[in-house]
Amino acid sequence: MKQQLTIALSKGRILKETLPLLAAADIVPAEDIFSSRKLIFDTNHDHIKLVVIRATDVPTYVEYGGADMGIAGKDVLMEHGGAGLYEPLDLEIAKCKLMVAGMKDAAPVEGRMKVATKFVNLTREYFARQGCQVDIIKLYGAMELAPIMGLADRIVDIVDTGNTLRANGLEPMQHIADISSRLVVGQPSMKMKHAVIQPILDQLQRAIDAQREGVA
Ligand code: AMP
Repeated sequence: MKQQLTIALSKGRILKETLPLLAAADIVPAEDIFSSRKLIFDTNHDHIKLVVIRATDVPTYVEYGGADMGIAGKDVLMEHGGAGLYEPLDLEIAKCKLMVAGMKDAAPVEGRMKVATKFVNLTREYFARQGCQVDIIKLYGAMELAPIMGLADRIVDIVDTGNTLRANGLEPMQHIADISSRLVVGQPSMKMKHAVIQPILDQLQRAIDAQREGVA
């Protein structure tokens, strides 16, 4: 019998792009994930289950072995730090950018800059690398509001089209990283379950290549 394998998927925007890629790699949930309130799903393979959780919880589940593999945005993985994870595949989906943004035509900040973000760790590291000391203000959403309300001078957030920034009178200022969704595998799972994981990695790689050629 094949070893059991659990794959943790990120809810929300990424999920819509993840399912077609999994399907192309012949992993299909047994029921419609979007219309169900379940958290665990069987698939067309007896040995593979999917769990659907918040993106920020995916690396944590995989790190501690609650799931063998997971799919999450590079932003989430950078914030987590990557302990205990291999990151063998860039799925090339849910592409966006991690940016520093502020009010359009804002004057340079005098003194210590206040930066609002939900990505506290990666923001601290980014500004430290720039040799810039900042005060970080943790928010859980609607970062764009912080500079408008005078809570912060800058935000660090994900930007796709830039429409959200523009609609709120903000502009992108510095590019921190290009983001896309990545497949992560827990280090013990990679060793102990290599026989079931490797064929999935191979199939996903073929699906990613086909997707890229489809786009080109
Ligand atoms: P946009 O207005 O197109 O720049 O989209 C910006 C908002 O959409 C941000 O506030 C993000 O929270 C969200 N967003 C855009 N792309 C992604 C992505 N690939 N993954 C997660 N959130 C995203």
